[in-house]
Order: sequence, then C-alpha cells, then structure tokens
Amino acid sequence: MTSSRASKPSDMAEFDYVIVGAGSAGCVLANRLSADGKHSVLLLEAGPRDNNIWIHVPLGYGKLFKEKTVNWMYQTEPEPGLDGRRVFQPRGKVLGGSSSINGLLYVRGQHEDYDRWRQRGNVGWGFDDVLPYFKKAENQTRGADPYHGTGGPLPVSDWRHADPLSEAFVKAAVETGIPFNPDFNGATQEGAGFFQTTTRRGRRASSAFSYLRPARNRGNLHIETDALARRLVFEGRRARAVEYRQNGRVRTARARREILVSSGAYNSPQLLQLSGVGPAEFLKQHGIDVVLDAQGVGNDLQDHLQVRLVMRCAQRVTLNDVVNNPLRGIMAGAQYAAFRKGPLTIAAGTSGAFFKTSPRLATPDIQIHFIPFSTDKMGEKLHPFSGFTASVCQLRPESRGSLRIKSADPTVPPEIRINYLATETDRRAFIDGIAILRKILAAPALKPYVVDEVYPGASITGDEDVLDFCRKTGSTVYHPTSTCRMGNDPLAVVDQRLRVRGIEGLRVVDASIMPDLMSGNTNAPTIMIAEKASDMILQDAR
Ligand SMILES: Cc1cc2nc3c(=O)[nH]c(=O)nc-3n(C[C@H](O)[C@H](O)[C@H](O)COP(=O)(O)OP(=O)(O)OC[C@H]3O[C@@H](n4cnc5c(N)ncnc54)[C@H](O)[C@@H]3O)c2cc1C
Repeated sequence: MTSSRASKPSDMAEFDYVIVGAGSAGCVLANRLSADGKHSVLLLEAGPRDNNIWIHVPLGYGKLFKEKTVNWMYQTEPEPGLDGRRVFQPRGKVLGGSSSINGLLYVRGQHEDYDRWRQRGNVGWGFDDVLPYFKKAENQTRGADPYHGTGGPLPVSDWRHADPLSEAFVKAAVETGIPFNPDFNGATQEGAGFFQTTTRRGRRASSAFSYLRPARNRGNLHIETDALARRLVFEGRRARAVEYRQNGRVRTARARREILVSSGAYNSPQLLQLSGVGPAEFLKQHGIDVVLDAQGVGNDLQDHLQVRLVMRCAQRVTLNDVVNNPLRGIMAGAQYAAFRKGPLTIAAGTSGAFFKTSPRLATPDIQIHFIPFSTDKMGEKLHPFSGFTASVCQLRPESRGSLRIKSADPTVPPEIRINYLATETDRRAFIDGIAILRKILAAPALKPYVVDEVYPGASITGDEDVLDFCRKTGSTVYHPTSTCRMGNDPLAVVDQRLRVRGIEGLRVVDASIMPDLMSGNTNAPTIMIAEKASDMILQDAR
C-alpha cells in the first residue's frame, strides 16, 4: 500500500506544495493547505499507514516502543554525561509520525517559553501570538475558556479512569506545599494535578487521526506512504523538487510553490544536509555538492532527560498487578473493548507536578510524570511486584548537542549527540529535583501505598551518588528539538516565517524550528507551530 488515491503518481509529478513527513506537523499542513481546494498538495511519508491496532489504544505506546515497522528506533552516540551509554531514541515512522507512538500527554509549556522566543527577536512567537493557534487546534472536552478552544480538530480529554494511586500522588505533592493545579495549560503551569491527553473517547488522537482523516478524500490532497525522501532538488538557490524512493523506484515530485520539510528534529536536518544545505566543509567530506553553507543545520539539538524513581507498592492497585494476573488482564481488555475505559487508557503519565528547585527561579524547572506501573526499561516487561514510577525531568536543559549525517546514503541513521548533563545547572536540577520528589513520595497521602524505594534505593543519598544514579539510568522523554532553529543570528536556520535562510521555496515546519526546548511536552507545541505556519504559507501565496 502506497498511494491514497486510485491513480499512481507518475515518476515526475507536480504539485503546489510538497510536504515531507506526515507527523505531528506534516498532517496539520496537509489539512490546512488543502482545505480551500485551490492548491494541490502532496504529502510524503517514509512509513506505512497507521493500521497497527496498538497505535489507537493509549497504553499501546509501550508496544510500539521497539516496533520497527512504525519506529525509526534511533540511538545516540555514547553520551559522555551518561557514563558513555547510548540512549535509545524512538521516533514515529508512520502516518501521524511520533504523535502515533507517543505518550499522548497534552502539555503546552509555559507562557514564558514563548515570550522568551519573542525576546530573542522572533516576532510573532510570543505567548499572546501563539495562544490563538493552540486554541484553533484544540477541541477541549472541558469546554472553552480564555486558554482553551473547542472547535479544533485535536481532541483534548481528561483521563477516563479513577486511580487512587495517581490521586494520592497529587495529594502528597500538595501536602509538601506544592499548590493543586487543575489545568497545567491554563493561567499557570506550576503545581500538581492530572494530565490531559490527546484522546477521543479513550482512543488515541494522533495528528493523522485528527487532521489527515477528515482531509484524506479531498481531490487535491495526495498522500504517499512508504515514500522515503532522499534529497531535495535545487535550481540555483531555489528548492524545486523532492526526490523520493517508493517500491524500489525513484520518483520526483516538483513543487510549484514550496517544499515544506516536516520530517522531525532528527530527519529534517538530515534531509537538508543530504541535499547540500549544511556546514560546507562537512558536506564536502561526504561528497555532497554544497547548495548553501548553512553552519547551523543540525546544531543546537536539545532533549529532555528523565530519571525514574521506582517504588514498591503496598497494595495491589498498580498496572503491574493487572498485567501479571491473567484474569485481571482479560477484564481490563474487556472493559476497554466495551467502554473504552480502564487501565488500557493509561498514557505516559496520569498525574504529575511542575515545581521550582530554587526560589531564585521565576518558573518551574522540573516536571514529574507519575505513572501507576513500574519496569526496568520503558517498553519492556513490567515488574513482577506491585510498583509505580515517578520520573524527574528537567524542563530547560542548558546542554546542547548536534545532528550530523554519517553517510550520503539517506537510509543510514544520522549521528545523534545530545550531551545530556553537560552543565552544572543541568546536573544540579536533577539532584535537587530528586530530593523534592522524595519528599513527595514520603508524604502522608502516599504512606499507605509505599513499601520502599526500589530505585535508586534508600542507600543512595549524597549528591555524588544521586548524580551517579542519573548517569547510569537517565533516559530520554523523547523531546528532541531545535536542530533547524528559528532566529536572527548567523547560525539560525529558519526565519520567523520558517523559511530556510538563503534558500527560496523551502520551509522547515516541525519541532526542529523551536529556538530552544520549551518547558513541557512537545507534541502540542509542534501542532501549534504547524497551525501558525499554515496561515503564513497561505498568506504568502496570495
Ligand atoms: C515514545 C514517544 C513518546 C512521546 N510522548 C509525548 C507525550 O506524551 N506528549 C507530547 O507532547 N510529546 C510526546 N512526544 C514527543 C512528540 O510526539 C514529538 O515532539 C512530536 O510528535 C514531533 O513532531 P514532528 O512533526 O516534529 O515530528 P514527527 O511527528 O516525528 O514526524 C516526522 C515524520 O516525518 C517522517 N519522515 C522522516 N524522514 C522522512 C523522509 N526522509 N521522507 C519521508 N518522511 C520522512 C517520519 O516518518 C515521521 O512520520 C513523544 C515522542 C515519542 C517518540
């Protein structure tokens, strides 16, 4: 299966817009740019259709973690700050991209993140500028208010399961002095509360579900799956076409107006470098003809690191107890099949908290994801005992890394260096964040549930030992950004309208354009970016 339309594309076809990548951002573009019927749009996706059943069940994200049919399954290079370990980097390779395999949490970040982008000279990207696009995208099940919209394609819902453990975590956080926050995406992010998810009646609402399905029968939208873009074709400094491989054949799609690269924070800079847009000396070493010496392409890679604390639970109320008991497992399956409720609706966090590790900070620097199950590694078997997990994630790491191709062959995975824990601020945030989380886990509301701390364990207390635990176990929260970042300085890759600097007819629209990593989960912000980009692209077409 490759084409969404009856007629196969010829080896050379022409469209107004060619979008590379049907992920969180690409599906939004495909919908919005084809909506008025005036423009022809081609959407190229390297992966298959989203037929895998586990895509649509929220808890299924655990099954897709290492499912290579829908996942690029990248690895970092050995990370110096993590004892030289390579860190597994799942990325969606399917319609919906990473929004089809992600943890479903709907978190926008802090107002100050966008105001910081604006302060760095990115006109039009302050919080007041981007809020209308968050609202435009959203269909909030709680109803509309000054921060939320109801008419958009993206359903945002509360969790459909009452879980005493997740509630106890929130109460415990409040007992330590953290305020209760009913809405992490409202007036302020700080506090403890429950996450909302991108789900509709207990099913995943990926961007393919929310944006592509309603648009896929439009005559002017062509969707090609299993279509790997190999390079962009230029005439001088103007992007003219995308060369892609599908079913063993190389095809070319020409763009009358623009090419929109939405291949994600790893594959967008990879495609630019493969096409001759990147650091010139480096490209020449790979035998690639240089179209534009753009030193910033692939720089400034940022990601959220998380360190997980695992607790042994005194009561059989965790998902471990459901999965490890065949009868309870069958009942959970039946409950989901009949009502779309119960443990199978668990996302990557049920409740959580945002707090500051120091009064010197203006806004939270730590996010806690609480989840009522435990495992040694994400995506692997749950523990045989009753257990739960609370992870510490530093929201604004200072550490920066890079993305570089390893070969001119587009099928060779790129070299990913994140440099986790490279700065003292980043290391201190984890030491202090874990100390605060331990206070929450010891608070009265959680007492009836806690037997002991399995990881790191009560004996790990001093700063050096805690940091050593972070180095040995830290892993990603799957939020790479900023490899084609927006800005005005010489290393910025795109301008405020997301046009690649120095090239005509080419924009990058996805998580890679973020000037820096915002303080939260990255799916909703990426969808916002694509909503705003759609408006700019259509304005520029007039
Ligand atoms: C396991 C996991 C859990 C996550 N959990 C959450 C969460 O709970 N909440 C949250 O907000 N965020 C979460 N995220 C992050 C969030 O999903 C991403 O930040 C967001 O989806 C990025 O969107 P994007 O459009 O930049 O890239 P993607 O959605 O990754 O889309 C890129 C698309 O381009 C395609 N592509 C790449 N190269 C090519 C090529 N050469 N030719 C054709 N197609 C190509 C890819 O196959 C993919 O479909 C998670 C991510 C992962 C992987």
